[in-house]
Amino acid sequence: MRYVQLDTQSDPQADTHPTTEKQKALSQLLAGELQAMGITDAHMDEWGYVYATLPSNTTKNVPAICFCSHIDTAPDASGTGVKPIVHKTYQEQDITLPDDATQVLTPAVHGYLKKLIGHDIITASGTTLLGADDKAGVAEIMDAAHYLMTHPEVKHGEIKILFTPDEEVGQGTAKVNMQKLGAQFGYTLDGGEAGSLEDETFSADAVQLIIHGVITHPGYAKDLLVNAMKIAGEILAKLPKSELSPETTSGKQGFIHPVRIEGLAERCTIDFIIRDFVTEGLKKKEDLLQGLVDLVLEQHPKATYEFKVTEQYRNMKEVLDLHPHVVQYAKEAIARSGLDVKTESIRGGTDGSRLSFMGLPCPNLFAGMQAIHSKLEYISIQDMNKAVENIVHLAAIWEEKS
Ligand SMILES: [Zn+2]
Repeated sequence: MRYVQLDTQSDPQADTHPTTEKQKALSQLLAGELQAMGITDAHMDEWGYVYATLPSNTTKNVPAICFCSHIDTAPDASGTGVKPIVHKTYQEQDITLPDDATQVLTPAVHGYLKKLIGHDIITASGTTLLGADDKAGVAEIMDAAHYLMTHPEVKHGEIKILFTPDEEVGQGTAKVNMQKLGAQFGYTLDGGEAGSLEDETFSADAVQLIIHGVITHPGYAKDLLVNAMKIAGEILAKLPKSELSPETTSGKQGFIHPVRIEGLAERCTIDFIIRDFVTEGLKKKEDLLQGLVDLVLEQHPKATYEFKVTEQYRNMKEVLDLHPHVVQYAKEAIARSGLDVKTESIRGGTDGSRLSFMGLPCPNLFAGMQAIHSKLEYISIQDMNKAVENIVHLAAIWEEKS
């Protein structure tokens, strides 16, 4: 309730780190609270990252594991003046948010509410997002840290805590110092439904296509001028529609998605994102796209093009499959918390996918957040408690198995 009242919205337009200075206020607060728990190395660095270490309390040699959450909130809805409200003992009714009567949480649309009967639910007041994404994860890690610090009978190895800014604008790992973090395996707490575990993300590339036309005075252009914008239009019209598009795919299907176009008659640029769960699938989609471009350009022999592929991120499963116990222990912790394990794939990327390829295999654990990035965002306090329990079990399981 306290953390969400600090505005920590990140800014996709900024090229500073953090992208907004206000995020540091929460980082500073968290570092201070960790210090007050007796975690003496807790601190915020110049980029707004918080690092802290719970010392090992076992004689066993246990790998250092990290729990990670992001402190920023999404730019999709306002994060200024968040007023969290607790709705006690939910009874499957509609919840109308008091500051905007058009914002109504209803089980008919938000089916997960039906699983929360009897729970206490937190929402915002109707004019802002709640910021449970990902301050729920932050609060759960803080509570688990407090529990472990005050319950020495729970044996665990070294536990690292990492709070990152700017996850929502794709910069969450930009300034992370892996050496300083000193963890071997990690878990992000940035997932939804209680019991869910995400060990798979998209693999992602970007493609930039630049079409060069031929420009002349339009009055004397017959048989000379080649308009790059018209070629771009032909290429876009040839893209697959009933398949390989985000609007027509789901589950494990990938896509080719034009996200931006900019141009003049002389030169036109189209930016695409390419997504697939299998990294080789990216290459196939890129070849398909380039084939379409070649087909169109055959009709315009004087035009030329550049086709640049940039790697964005890779499916974390490629890394996690090399260390199956990381996911196995998480499943065991969820079961010990009394929940059914739901393994899910993310049709997107997470900080965990980047961290996994930076040497920290890192699946995503549930934190309980629902309807994220919207004014209807909500979370169950009981789900949050389960997430805390899950962290504590996980810390203990790593010690037991070492
Ligand atoms: Zn998040």
